Amino acid sequence: MIKHTIYNLIIAGTLMSCGHAKQNNAEAATVTETQPTFCTDSAMSYLKAQTDLGPRVPGTEAHSRCAAYLRSTLERLGADNVSVQDTTVTAWNGDRLPLHNILARFGSQEGVAPVLLMAHWDSRPWADSETDETLSSRPIDGANDGASGVAILLEIARQAALNGTKVPVEILLIDGEDYGAHDDESGDETSWCLGTQAWLASDPYAGSQRPRFAVLLDMVGGRGARFHREYISDAYARAIVDMVWHEAAAIGLGDRFVNEAGGAVVDDHLFLNRAGIPAIDIIENQNTETGSFNPTWHTLNDTYENIDPTTIGDTGRLVSRLIIK
Ligand SMILES: [Zn+2]
Repeated sequence: MIKHTIYNLIIAGTLMSCGHAKQNNAEAATVTETQPTFCTDSAMSYLKAQTDLGPRVPGTEAHSRCAAYLRSTLERLGADNVSVQDTTVTAWNGDRLPLHNILARFGSQEGVAPVLLMAHWDSRPWADSETDETLSSRPIDGANDGASGVAILLEIARQAALNGTKVPVEILLIDGEDYGAHDDESGDETSWCLGTQAWLASDPYAGSQRPRFAVLLDMVGGRGARFHREYISDAYARAIVDMVWHEAAAIGLGDRFVNEAGGAVVDDHLFLNRAGIPAIDIIENQNTETGSFNPTWHTLNDTYENIDPTTIGDTGRLVSRLIIK
C-alpha cells in the first residue's frame, strides 16, 4: 500500500518532465526527427488507468467502462478516425460475451498499405494458474496480460499524432483474447482470441489495403523480461521477426530482444497469419523461472505493482522506431 502511493507520486512528477521536454526544449524537438520519443511514464499512466478499473472481463461494468476509455482516449489523442466493432460471441462454456474491437488510424494515405499494431485489452476471468482453488476462480487484473501492450500502443498513438508516422498505422485494441478454455483440446485453439476471430470474420479490409504486416504486443511489461523469437511468428513471418530483432540490436536492446528461437504461443497473431496477414508476436515466452511465461501469468499477482517500467520503455521505444517519424 505504501509502495503503491509513493509510486504514484513518482509517476506524477516524471510525467510532467516528459511533457516539459517535448514542448519547451527546441533541442529535444530536433532529436525526435531521428530518435522517436517514447515516454515510459505516460505509458505507465495508461496502464494504471486500465487496472484501476478492475478486471476487464467481457460483460462486466469495468469492461464496458474500459471500452469507452480506450475509444475516447484514442479520439482525444488525435487519431484520423476511430471505429469500433461491437459484436456478441459465444464462448466455449456457453457464456455470451459482448465484445468491442477498437481500431484507430494514424497517417492514413489512400492506397498505401498500413502497418497494424495490436494488443488485447480484455483480462482473463479466472486466475487459473493459482494452485489454491479458492483463488483460481477469481478474475485477474491483467496488468501484464493485456494492459501492458495496450498502454504501449496508447503512448505510440500519442506520439503518432504529435510527430507523424513513416507509414499509415492502424492501432487495433482487440477484445476477447483471454476467455479460452484452460485445456483447449479443439486442435485449432479457437476457444481463444474470440475478438480477433470476430474481427477477421467481418472482412475488415474488403474496401481498403490490407496491412503489410502486423505486430502484436502481449505481456510486454514483466520484470526483467526478455523476448525470444516466437515460433509461430517465425513460421509465418520470419522476415518481419528478423527486421524487428535486428532493429532491437541496432538500438542497444540485444540483451532484451534475444535473437534465439523461443516457444510457440497461441495468440491473436495466429489468426491473422491464418487469414494471410503476416503477423508477429512480441511476448515473453522463455522466462528463466518458468521456462515459458512470466510467473504472474494468469495469477492474482498480475498487478500494476509487478510491472517493470524499463521493460515497457524498451519495448515501446523499439516499436516506435518502426513507425514514428
Ligand atoms: Zn492471458
